[in-house]
Amino acid sequence: MPMSFLNDKSFSNKTISLVYRLQKSSIPSALSFKLIGAISGIWPIKELNDCPLLYHSSAVLCVDGQTELRIIVEDKRVIVYLTHKLSKHFISPNIAASIQECLTLTLEAVLTFYLSSIGKSYRIMNVSNLFQIEIGEICDRSPCVVSISKAVNASNWVCDKGIDHDTKCSRLWFFDKAQKECQSNCTGLDKTVLTKTPTDKHLARLAKQLSINKCKELVLYLGIEETEWEEIEYVHQKQPLIMKFMALKKKPFKSFNDLLKAQEDIKDGRHLLCKVFREDTDLVDIADVRLQDIPHDDVLNGLSKHLGNCAILLGIELGITITSIEETMTRHPRDMYLQNEDILKKWKSSKQVTPTIYRLMLAVERVYSGGLSYLTDIYLGQ
Ligand SMILES: [Zn+2]
Ligand SMILES: [Zn+2]
Repeated sequence: MPMSFLNDKSFSNKTISLVYRLQKSSIPSALSFKLIGAISGIWPIKELNDCPLLYHSSAVLCVDGQTELRIIVEDKRVIVYLTHKLSKHFISPNIAASIQECLTLTLEAVLTFYLSSIGKSYRIMNVSNLFQIEIGEICDRSPCVVSISKAVNASNWVCDKGIDHDTKCSRLWFFDKAQKECQSNCTGLDKTVLTKTPTDKHLARLAKQLSINKCKELVLYLGIEETEWEEIEYVHQKQPLIMKFMALKKKPFKSFNDLLKAQEDIKDGRHLLCKVFREDTDLVDIADVRLQDIPHDDVLNGLSKHLGNCAILLGIELGITITSIEETMTRHPRDMYLQNEDILKKWKSSKQVTPTIYRLMLAVERVYSGGLSYLTDIYLGQ
């Protein structure tokens, strides 16, 4: 893989790293294929000018439109870089943890198979003792990493280059996905994130966490008129989630800071904004290379009839702009099936990211309006 990405000075601000270091034996040559194969069943290999970025022992994968993963397999170590376009502070904790879990499991499985094939009994040895995991950042064009216990137990470390590294982002590799609320030592969103503008997806996820009353309190505090709230309530009366989203959308936020301030001022001290960055990763367990294909038009048409009244949210989760979603809603004002169908069509023809079945399943799962079992039956049925 060309390593020129390391020359970009901003790369280190956008990236966290993880290194598997093998104790004694070298990495079996088939390992790079197995590791890359396992992870590319979940996230597709990135393409540049129609050319997949897949090399002899490394690859670049596309986690979502903004997050990229690089795996480089060397003789005695595996280097993993996870990069968010804007900043490492935007990396979703659940995604980082899922990638780590998937790679660790695959590495263990491959080593077990390899050791048993050369006659060593894997039963008596604990495979995970054969490698060490270190996590960290990037320093001077290479991974600057420490042991997990060091990263978890300290808020920073100073490396041999004299650079002070914060452990907050590195710890994401071991984020506890089952944890619902933030830990007591959570300091909330980083300054870099607070200055950025929330996207529609962020607002939709925030809307999901607010009760109707809390949402009303928040938007009225932010300066929306009572009459405007009532209008939104009237238009979207049977869809509370969309109603809350539309109300939040009514008041354009310049930054996450505006939202945080308002939330503090109305005395809602929960870490709702931290949760906005979590991604659902339940589907990672069923990921399969078949899900990296592009869904057929017939399946999309069928799916639109298995979904409820969810075109707006579905569009947001699929990354369609709100103007384009509104255009769909105006074109098909009273037919939710046609709305869903139109949104799915727009998504499939958009060129931003490859419209894979897996991405579609993630979005469908997020909007909680049915349709997921329809897709799993079709694609994972036999
Ligand atoms: Zn360093
Ligand atoms: Zn928090």
